Amino acid sequence: MNPNQCSFCGRKKDEVQILISGQNGFICENCIEQAHSIVKDSVSNTPESAMAESLDELKKPRQIKAFLDEYVIGQDQAKKQLSIAVYNHYKRLLHAKTENREVEIEKSNIIMIGETGTGKTLLAKTIAKQLNVPFCIVDATILTEAGYVGEDVESILSRLLMVADYDVEKAERGIVFIDEIDKIARKSDNPSITRDVSGEGVQQGLLKLLEGSIVNVPPQGGRKHPDQKYIQVNTQNILFIAGGAFDGMTEIIERRLNKQAIGFSKDKLEKTDDEDYILSQINAIDLKSFGLIPELLGRFPIITYLEKLTKETLVRIMKEPKNSIVNQFVELFKMDNVSLEFSDNAIYEIVEDTMNKGLGARGLRGTTEKVLEDYMFNIENNQEVKIDSILLNS
Ligand code: ADP
Repeated sequence: MNPNQCSFCGRKKDEVQILISGQNGFICENCIEQAHSIVKDSVSNTPESAMAESLDELKKPRQIKAFLDEYVIGQDQAKKQLSIAVYNHYKRLLHAKTENREVEIEKSNIIMIGETGTGKTLLAKTIAKQLNVPFCIVDATILTEAGYVGEDVESILSRLLMVADYDVEKAERGIVFIDEIDKIARKSDNPSITRDVSGEGVQQGLLKLLEGSIVNVPPQGGRKHPDQKYIQVNTQNILFIAGGAFDGMTEIIERRLNKQAIGFSKDKLEKTDDEDYILSQINAIDLKSFGLIPELLGRFPIITYLEKLTKETLVRIMKEPKNSIVNQFVELFKMDNVSLEFSDNAIYEIVEDTMNKGLGARGLRGTTEKVLEDYMFNIENNQEVKIDSILLNS
């Protein structure tokens, strides 16, 4: 170690203004500056601080939707509304940092209505992936009002904290997907007879979380108890997306629209189209009729719906998404140097078979797996697999 020169760049003592000594060397001001800029760059590129600092950095709704298009087929209306809501949500966070705080922009939590397996969870998950923020899914059915068997509503945030590695600041910008929100609907129109601890009671409990307040969260989730240490989480900037199937919703909407056609069976052929149209008319009044309390609805200003999946959509789901089922199996086979190909006919048959079994998009993988079973079992004996029809395999 030479006390007369910088150990990093080798400049002599008289060529620099300052030399700081360390345990095993010296560093000059030039190298300190350079090191500082390296540290700054690499830290600001880490996912944790991937939050946009200015409006220019924020992805516009169209870009958000284009990203969703890569993973979710169809559901254009839901994708559009979700993209706008998410854009506004993060714009709101930027606004909160500005000087002009006179106008306070309120949160735009979202409620999604659609049959099971139509892509609600997938949409919420994909949005979180794009934004690179912590994301968790909670099931509303496990929640009960405080003091009863079940989990406190605060446990929702325990999960978010867990996925954020207990980084509170990170969790406070996350997205929570509350599944099966329809299952906590008020059980009857007359709430006074018995206490509705898993329905209306939970809705009341959720209000506090949704409106943006500081909540005491039990780090391990479950039930709160007095001796426990809590982590305080501010929910003001957490985006809540709720989803549910809301069975019977079309009838509620129809009733409101006074459209309950007496002989509606005559239109059975167009029923799917019809139902999608009726669902597109949904508003907060219908959700209230279903049993959600007005205060809760007030905190979910955006209501969107997902269409039923048709045969054509399922065919597209098989092929088009970035990690489509076809692509996944092609990749699996490729690892063994086997080329795998499906004809359009085979894909159509897989879809038909799945639909005949009454399974939606979730069943496609299982059907495909069954079709490929023997090929996968004998993988070393093949170089090329071409599936033209699944009928030969079943
Ligand atoms: P939901 O939350 O509405 O019950 P999911 O989002 O969990 O349904 O969907 C189940 C699975 O079906 C997804 O993981 C995905 O593979 C597939 N899927 C459903 N809808 C779509 C869609 N519109 N586009 C692509 N895949 C879909």
